[in-house]
Amino acid sequence: MNHHFDRLALIGIGLIGSSIAHAARRADTVGHIAVSTRTLATMQRAEELKLGDSFHADPAEAAAGADCVIVSVPVGASGAVAAAIAPALKAGAIVSDVGSVKGSVVRQMAPHMPPGVHLVPAHPVAGTEHSGPDAGFAELFDNRWCILTPPPGTDPTAVSKLGDFWRALGANVEIMAPEHHDMVLAITSHVPHLIAYNIVGTAAHLEEVSQGEVMKYAAGGFRDFTRIAASDPTMWRDVFLNNKEAVLEMLGRFSEDLTALQRMIRFGDGDALFDLFTRTRAIRRGIIAAGQETAEADFGRKHNKP
Ligand code: NAP
Repeated sequence: MNHHFDRLALIGIGLIGSSIAHAARRADTVGHIAVSTRTLATMQRAEELKLGDSFHADPAEAAAGADCVIVSVPVGASGAVAAAIAPALKAGAIVSDVGSVKGSVVRQMAPHMPPGVHLVPAHPVAGTEHSGPDAGFAELFDNRWCILTPPPGTDPTAVSKLGDFWRALGANVEIMAPEHHDMVLAITSHVPHLIAYNIVGTAAHLEEVSQGEVMKYAAGGFRDFTRIAASDPTMWRDVFLNNKEAVLEMLGRFSEDLTALQRMIRFGDGDALFDLFTRTRAIRRGIIAAGQETAEADFGRKHNKP
């Protein structure tokens, strides 16, 4: 078998890192997998799950000699990890990540890259609300998008090599400028998460409606927000701190539209409400037609390993 990389280093082995390990093994697309993670407890669990061939407390040791290093940690930690692995990187190595924000990751990682090392940041747009090495599974990236955001001047051969690797993991590959990625994801992912965190928070603070009633009648729409609002607090804190401009821009638009909706309700403008709800229904049908969601009423939960 022709491997894409003889040695792959995975720095961070939570949901995304472990899913890469599973998917790379399924595709038999790498030789050796070297794993490093911050804590001993996660490392031991990763070893029990046989997520790699070698395990290293020092990320530089895992990265040494690697043809490709993929950093899968909260985006706020990417600069420190890049600094730690930099001295060990071999010439010609590809360094990538999986962070949900790209402009900030490029700013944090690029200054540490030695000459001859190719930084090709990536974001697999796939996930669940679970975290840690037990949460990963080989199918996570199947038919999902992986967006590569190479900074200007990146070696095109390195970009296409990483793209081929992600395709072998089951993903479809797209290339975007980091700033454009951050705008697109602000509206498709970051603001929706913020809305979910907010509505669940609001329900928790209510005095007129009891918590028991909130739980009991959750199927009325609330339930689907609670799944999103159960996502990892560290990861999402870092997303909002690192994609501030784009999130605030989209949140501004969202607030304006919410005010318009408020007016429609206040003035009894049923036609305007009906028109909007008709248009939004078409968007959901478009997502199902694009193969990114099931038409069943489970909101994709069956594809979410428990
Ligand atoms: P996760 O399951 O919580 O795993 C996080 C990993 O990063 C663990 O190995 C953890 O090590 C390590 N880590 C945590 N804090 C660190 C720090 N300060 N310094 C160094 N290492 C640290 O997270 P994940 O869901 O795989 O997310 C990883 C990245 O993928 C994030 O940047 C996120 O934005 C991106 N992403 C997530 C999703 C999603 O749905 N979850 C989807 C696409 C992209 P220890 O356990 O040893 O502390």
